[in-house]
Amino acid sequence: MPTAPALVGRFAEALMGRRACVLATEQIAPDFLEVEFRAEPPPGGWQPGHEVQVRATRTEGRRYTVHGVVDAQRITILTVLHGDAPGTRWLRALRPGTEITLLAGKHVAARLPGTRLIFLGDGSALGTFNAHTAVGHGAVTTTTVIEAPPGSVAALSDRCPGYRILPALDDEPGATTQAWLDDALRNGDLADVDGALLLGHAQSIQQQRRALITGTTLDRRAITTRPYWATGKAGL
Ligand SMILES: Cc1cc2nc3c(=O)[nH]c(=O)nc-3n(C[C@H](O)[C@H](O)[C@H](O)COP(=O)(O)OP(=O)(O)OC[C@H]3O[C@@H](n4cnc5c(N)ncnc54)[C@H](O)[C@@H]3O)c2cc1C
Repeated sequence: MPTAPALVGRFAEALMGRRACVLATEQIAPDFLEVEFRAEPPPGGWQPGHEVQVRATRTEGRRYTVHGVVDAQRITILTVLHGDAPGTRWLRALRPGTEITLLAGKHVAARLPGTRLIFLGDGSALGTFNAHTAVGHGAVTTTTVIEAPPGSVAALSDRCPGYRILPALDDEPGATTQAWLDDALRNGDLADVDGALLLGHAQSIQQQRRALITGTTLDRRAITTRPYWATGKAGL
């Protein structure tokens, strides 16, 4: 429901709305904001990886992912501040004490095939990858590659030492990840991988999936994908 009449938005809030209050915001890197909420739990409680929707404006909804569950009523989301758009403006305006409504249903956990996994995504996927890493999924090894705005690479690399953080090119989302992936496939670095999770920019995900299917023994069922945004499209 990226865009919907105000009445539909209010109806959705009445059905699935959880009252929430901002406890803290932290700019963990120049382009990344972590927000902690106290929030009424949905049925089954909050889980890492829980999808939530907010009304960024009266008519526009935007989706984010719970990346940390501190306790039954305290959760965090991790977001990329990518420009002047409704979701990003909504995030920038949050202050401790701001009261909002989060739309959330019962959590449906993603099933990740494989035990030697590769996670590929951009800044919008960082929180979700953190959630999957915390859950573990029985993975033996996980290679996580995140493409981020260049100004945030150093801070994210310090904060996420196990992840490979690559600088994004202006106006070419996915290009540095694709170059890294092509290199890794050429060098046989991914020969062991038996499952993949591709999140973030829709057009990049398609290219990455093609490269993995062509360059490894992975078939489509071993590759889980979820587009989070698409070039030229508002909300998803
Ligand atoms: C299930 C789900 C979970 C998500 N979880 C998270 C999360 O935890 N953290 C997070 O940061 N994002 C997350 N996203 C992505 C986020 O909802 C989108 O990036 C959303 O489009 C942002 O809204 P906006 O109003 O800022 O930009 P929009 O109005 O949607 O888009 C405006 C313009 O910016 C471009 N754009 C949109 N998003 C990005 C981006 N991330 N980087 C660069 N350009 C962009 C669009 O192509 C468009 O041209 C999630 C999306 C989904 C579907």
